[in-house]
Amino acid sequence: MITILFGPPGCGKGTQAAIISERFSLPHVSTGEMLRDEVAAGSDLGEEVAPIMKDGGLIPDNVMVRVIERRLAQPDAAGGVLLDGFPRTVPQAEELDDMLERSGREIGVVLFFDVPEAELQKRIAHRAEIDHRADDTPEAFVKRMREYEAKTAPVVDYYQERGTRVEYVNGNAPIAAVTDSILTIYGDQSPRGEVA
Ligand code: ADP
Repeated sequence: MITILFGPPGCGKGTQAAIISERFSLPHVSTGEMLRDEVAAGSDLGEEVAPIMKDGGLIPDNVMVRVIERRLAQPDAAGGVLLDGFPRTVPQAEELDDMLERSGREIGVVLFFDVPEAELQKRIAHRAEIDHRADDTPEAFVKRMREYEAKTAPVVDYYQERGTRVEYVNGNAPIAAVTDSILTIYGDQSPRGEVA
């Protein structure tokens, strides 16, 4: 089963994906992490995306679709994955649906993390002090929020219109409480398993 973790920058989807991934031995596919690895390795892709990421912009859809297609074709992805950071635009969501249909897979659930903007800003400012991520500056955060609202938020409507299961997660709660609400959403169903 494919789980999509979805929400604004700083909503905690990466944190929860890491916890769920460990608990169910499921790959955590974070496009942000993959891109940061490319930047650190100094690859051609890394050189291409570094300035866009630093600025808080979105990487072109065709680049991201290539990256994710290659990742989902890896053998460890066959039993399901936690997708964190993709899709981030409606065209990416459409491409993902086509990709999954071709390989006979489908999205089990979209977890939509709800967190007020003031809290997001606080978390990113806090993370900036610890992680030193190039895009955790106040300027890049504003741009990331704007990109999120304009291009990413409409992805939820896309899934709702298609009848894909979307579940709201209150992300404005302690980490363990957020994990609990995700486990409640899975219920008896393992995120590794097929969709009932
Ligand atoms: P955040 O904490 O803001 O959710 P991520 O670690 O998921 O950040 O991503 C960091 C940056 O990587 C984004 O701001 C964007 O530049 C780039 N990126 C990651 N995934 C995508 C995607 N699916 N489409 C376009 N750009 C992406």
